Amino acid sequence: MANRIEGRVLRRGDYRYESLRREACWHSGVPDRHPEVIVLANNEDDVVGAVKLAKEEGLRIAVRSGGHSWSGSHLRDGTLLIDLSNLRHVTVDTETMTGAAQPGIKGSELNSMLAERNLFFPTGHCTGVTIGGYLLQGGFAWAGRDYGPACMSVTGIDAVTAEGERVHADESRNTDLLWAARGAGPGFFAVVTRFHVKLYPRKRITMNSGYFWPASAARDVYGFVHEIGRQTPAEINLMCNRDPLTNDEPLISLNATAFTDTEEEAREQLSVFESCPARAQVLTTRLNELTDTGALSRLGTDPHYDETKRYLADNMWTHVSFDSLWPNFEAMLQSWPPAPSHMVLYNWAGCEGQPERPPMAFSVEDELYYGLYAAWSDPAEDQRYTDWVTEHMRAWEPYSSGIQLADENLINRPCRFVTDENLRRLDDLRATWDPDGLFVSWLGRPEPAVNASVIDPDG
Ligand SMILES: Cc1cc2nc3c(=O)[nH]c(=O)nc-3n(C[C@H](O)[C@H](O)[C@H](O)COP(=O)(O)OP(=O)(O)OC[C@H]3O[C@@H](n4cnc5c(N)ncnc54)[C@H](O)[C@@H]3O)c2cc1C
Repeated sequence: MANRIEGRVLRRGDYRYESLRREACWHSGVPDRHPEVIVLANNEDDVVGAVKLAKEEGLRIAVRSGGHSWSGSHLRDGTLLIDLSNLRHVTVDTETMTGAAQPGIKGSELNSMLAERNLFFPTGHCTGVTIGGYLLQGGFAWAGRDYGPACMSVTGIDAVTAEGERVHADESRNTDLLWAARGAGPGFFAVVTRFHVKLYPRKRITMNSGYFWPASAARDVYGFVHEIGRQTPAEINLMCNRDPLTNDEPLISLNATAFTDTEEEAREQLSVFESCPARAQVLTTRLNELTDTGALSRLGTDPHYDETKRYLADNMWTHVSFDSLWPNFEAMLQSWPPAPSHMVLYNWAGCEGQPERPPMAFSVEDELYYGLYAAWSDPAEDQRYTDWVTEHMRAWEPYSSGIQLADENLINRPCRFVTDENLRRLDDLRATWDPDGLFVSWLGRPEPAVNASVIDPDG
């Protein structure tokens, strides 16, 4: 019964239901999907209460931590949405270099707390993203190449199961649940109420160099990044977007960041970018600037994410030479959508000294990561930009080894996001932990057969 729940319980048609549904999606392209009930949990007991309420009412369950899923995978028809945005408690043990954090805390907030103690956790590139969905889908972080996907630094979870039971999973108890929580993303089949994590010493130096080119240099710059991306220890963020610097034509900006213990080492890492064949065509540079991840997010990445716009994202992992990608990219440059639409390319796997991957659901990654994001204002243009993103990413499918659930577009372009073996294991584990299919799964994937008393969320 709802009176087991301290937090707000809103039903379709209730005052504030619609504003809460809209707030549950970070951008203005809120999907036309409506949960029957939204429970704004105040605490872990509320999560237990919400699971029981869903079972009583024959509703499936969707979960939201911060609502930064591009596709709004937590907004589903016919569900009870458990909103965890008020679960924000964090503890840090400086001595053991461990912490515990609830899913509604933002990565940037966590990192500010850690910075005060000279500690570090691999959090995402934008200020607003909460850790709940981020950690479950993998977690592509600042300095992430040094630590692997952030879910590798999750040592345990507290969760509420489909039975409404509170459980703990770590490397000795309920190990299969921890295995799944490290990468299942929106296909996870329980509610995580707390992540137990390991923390790292904070590197002393964060140094960044930026180079900015007109689109005419694109082929040389991307070719260079494909060649050196694997070896360089520096983190590359190569972006293409319309910008005033090029009179609103596409601008290519290369931001390289070194995370080191000495300035000398950082300068050495960043020196390789001076050898880019397009160096002479550069419009402007900012070289060897000392900074921190907070400033990199605020000044570099956040401005591309405007919550008043509608967004569609898609992505791919690859390791091919840029020559294979160029024809499609050349066509994209001719039709680039308005700012702040953009494409990012990060270097990722393959660099010497990267940590070995433990057994975990997260299992598809590659040397380079492309994320493509269209942003627009007019709902009448939804189809146009959905097609633009989806079709251009589809053109690159032959060169891709799969996608990351971070920026997934599964509803329009289903794609491999874990290995086939891991997908089978996730399905088996779901059948064990959630036999009635109470929790919705990846958006666009046909839901497995469920107990007849449970309503189909998408139909
Ligand atoms: C502006 C922006 C920047 C981003 N930058 C990065 C980045 O740098 N690196 C990166 O890796 N990703 C990035 N992402 C992607 C982001 O990490 C994912 O969309 C992530 O799912 C968002 O986390 P969230 O807590 O807001 O999830 P939500 O949107 O709240 O939830 C997404 C899904 O995750 C599941 N879920 C969420 N919380 C829980 C929980 N506690 N228990 C069980 N299931 C849960 C649900 O199935 C839900 O459908 C970015 C996204 C945006 C919009």
